[in-house]
Amino acid sequence: MIKIFIDFDGTITKKDVGDSMFIEFGGEASRNFIQQYRSGEISAIECFKLESEASSGAIKKDLDDFLDKQEIDVSFIEFHKYCGDEGIPHFILSDGMDYYIERILKRFGLNNIPFFSNHLDLTMHDGTDEVILNPTFPLRDEECDRCACCKRNIMLSKSADDDIIVYIGEGFSDRCPVRYADVVFAKDELLIYCQQENISFFEYRSFAEVKIRLESLLTQKSSKKNFGLRKRRQAQLAVRDLLLGG
Ligand SMILES: [Mg+2]
Repeated sequence: MIKIFIDFDGTITKKDVGDSMFIEFGGEASRNFIQQYRSGEISAIECFKLESEASSGAIKKDLDDFLDKQEIDVSFIEFHKYCGDEGIPHFILSDGMDYYIERILKRFGLNNIPFFSNHLDLTMHDGTDEVILNPTFPLRDEECDRCACCKRNIMLSKSADDDIIVYIGEGFSDRCPVRYADVVFAKDELLIYCQQENISFFEYRSFAEVKIRLESLLTQKSSKKNFGLRKRRQAQLAVRDLLLGG
């Protein structure tokens, strides 16, 4: 069976909503925390905690209004419908926050797609219209603090050995899961990473392009001409190494 795993920020949405939100409400401090995280000085969890602290005190309505202005790649809506029609399970994996993912998916009628992410709790500051942001990390990996939400663990736990894992992403938190995926769709930073690491991938700019490619791969598969959708040897080895504790 084919299973599709999709990054949220910058892949489904046009911009990185998490980064934008924390910079909008946490200012320069958030920008610095993101830099420190990128350069490996602080972990993803530390970064989210610091950004949340810096953004606390935001007016709830301003925050929601900001999120309601975020745009998505509208061809994702058609892509989601296509997967549904074809009976292809698809999931969103995000190292961002459920609060905005849920809100944005709902706005576009996409809230039936299962998603996995970090949790962001918003509590009202007593007697004001300000919120306190409190992130928690139920899907963290115990041994790796590179990401706050371990996409790899979720992806592998949702897949059987003979499933063909398709991964669609663009950025930093997609680097780890693509090593374990059979078919990779990459753009931007992730594309460069895949080139450097010799991970074969399909370049895409929008979900319209992913859909066309997927349709063609599925046709090839059923006509047995070319098995474009097949297990990737390097990914299988990576999964084996992981299971052996390597
Ligand atoms: Mg992303």
